[in-house]
Amino acid sequence: MSNAHPTTIPAELGDAFRDAFGREPSGVWSAPGRVNLIGEHTDYNRGLCLPVAIPRRTWVAAARREDRRMRILSRQVPGERTIALDGLLEGNRGGWAAYAVGVLWALDQAGHEVRGLDVVVDGRVPLGSGLSSSAALECAVAVAAVDLFALEGLDGDDGRRRLAEVCVRAENDVAGAPTGGMDQSAALLARADEALLLDFDGDRPPVHVPFDLAAHDLALLVMNTRAEHSLDDGQYGNRRGECLAAVAELGLGSLRELRPPDLERVLPRLSSEVLRRRVRHVVTEVDRVTRTVAALESDGFAALTALFDASHASMRDDFEISCAELDTAVDTARARGALAARMTGGGFGGSAIAIVRTDLLDEVSEAVATAFSDCGLREPELFPVTADGSARQER
Ligand code: ADP
Ligand code: MG
Repeated sequence: MSNAHPTTIPAELGDAFRDAFGREPSGVWSAPGRVNLIGEHTDYNRGLCLPVAIPRRTWVAAARREDRRMRILSRQVPGERTIALDGLLEGNRGGWAAYAVGVLWALDQAGHEVRGLDVVVDGRVPLGSGLSSSAALECAVAVAAVDLFALEGLDGDDGRRRLAEVCVRAENDVAGAPTGGMDQSAALLARADEALLLDFDGDRPPVHVPFDLAAHDLALLVMNTRAEHSLDDGQYGNRRGECLAAVAELGLGSLRELRPPDLERVLPRLSSEVLRRRVRHVVTEVDRVTRTVAALESDGFAALTALFDASHASMRDDFEISCAELDTAVDTARARGALAARMTGGGFGGSAIAIVRTDLLDEVSEAVATAFSDCGLREPELFPVTADGSARQER
């Protein structure tokens, strides 16, 4: 199979597989990490978000087994795991390997005929940095399973949407992380040089939006703060619960039913200031996604400045999911001339992004690194990305 992208399969992946399992892998598959351009904590509120896949990917070398077990090891985490598919929820879920075995389990639950797999993982998406290494792992295993078991109905745009649901189920039910679906959709549906508009209200198909930075002499800078980020420490679920509570108090189906002009009328009906802030974030954030898409479709990156500023302020002040590291990255990038900047992902650490003129990339990066060291913060990891393609077979 010819591959339009330069192949960057980690050199030692095949050897690691042969060492571990004493046979050849049947193939290598990969799935990308992602950054969300705008639209945070909107997926579980039936809202909109706008991720792009990034060239940091997770690779898996894999081969079928005849039993119903997964044997898996990762080049990022020590120790080999063997996990049985049957009785998975009651038994050993394999720690980090739950993200991988969960995909086989969820495929099985959805009625697909799967058996076990031998897998070696090598991920270049930094773990726990808000760039979605978890979905990259799930989706790389998912496309490997689709090919190795010749599963039907999971190809093409519609099939990939079904496959994304399977991966969400793996993450929710097996790994136990209550994520909302953006990450898996990005990893399975994104296209190079485009952003992916996802609408979580009903069953609407995703829309590919032009995002050709290079044509505008712009770059997308990822600023991984390396600040502790974890979705399972309860904060993510807590925000999700607050949104549900607000929906119940207002007697709505979801927050998607509200538009910014409704807020003045609706917010006073909520029982607390905290709920008012949460609702204001979600409703204005969905509106900002719509405006961002309109700007990109009419060739106007300039409009992103105000939209990203407002989005970051909303997450910092109303949704309260920012932190010193994220604010330092965003404020410094903007002060040094970034066209737009905001935190991205679930929050509480993780990464921020900036859209920067290519000729300012070094200057902005250096300024952010210096600001972190001046504030006594851990050195951030800074790297420019392009919008990459979705999960695929590499070999
Ligand atoms: P994020 O998705 O933003 O990187 P998460 O907390 O959702 O952060 O997922 C990170 C977790 O996913 C890791 O702690 C680990 O359990 C699992 N994971 C992801 N990539 C790998 C990998 N290459 N090897 C082992 N585990 C991985
Ligand atoms: Mg994740």
